[in-house]
Amino acid sequence: MNQILFIVGARGAGKTTVGKLLANELSYTFIDTDHHIQQTSNMTIADIVNQQGWLQFRQLESQALQKVSQKNRVVSTGGGIILSAENRQYMQQNGTVIYLQTSADILAERLMQQPENTQRPSLTGKSIVEEMEEVLAAREKLYCECANHIINAQLSPEKITTCVKEIILSRIIS
Ligand code: ADP
Ligand code: MG
Repeated sequence: MNQILFIVGARGAGKTTVGKLLANELSYTFIDTDHHIQQTSNMTIADIVNQQGWLQFRQLESQALQKVSQKNRVVSTGGGIILSAENRQYMQQNGTVIYLQTSADILAERLMQQPENTQRPSLTGKSIVEEMEEVLAAREKLYCECANHIINAQLSPEKITTCVKEIILSRIIS
């Protein structure tokens, strides 16, 4: 069984939280594309975007995705990974894609509780709720299109983990 599990969703959806739990449950290795980019470049995501621009960041992100995608891994992705058709195709062809879906309100609520964790610089100066509404309006279709399974991200991390684990195991058996 050579599974790669890709977790997609907006910032605050729980990709890191759930990804770590899932990796533990499945005895897979957890890896986060943002974390990988920061480690290999020795810069924060915010600094990369500020100094080199979004285009460069998106290129680093695509490279990181392919680099970290090895068997028996849970890959937690950056919120914008699905913007690239190449990334969507790569994930679909190389693993199972799980979309952690929730509303802009919930995302904003979670991000406001942890402002230091909002690594991406705001380009708009809008409120977090407005920003998340715009992000979802632009990306929801792509998240859904890319995903093999859409999971309600308002469930507890433990419930989501159990649910995804059942899906993965049933895919392996069938
Ligand atoms: P992401 O990696 O998708 O940006 P995180 O895993 O960092 O999201 O979670 C963002 C915040 O939301 C954290 O404070 C985390 O504790 C909280 N969180 C994550 N998943 C859930 C959940 N299912 N229910 C409630 N809070 C959650
Ligand atoms: Mg994360």
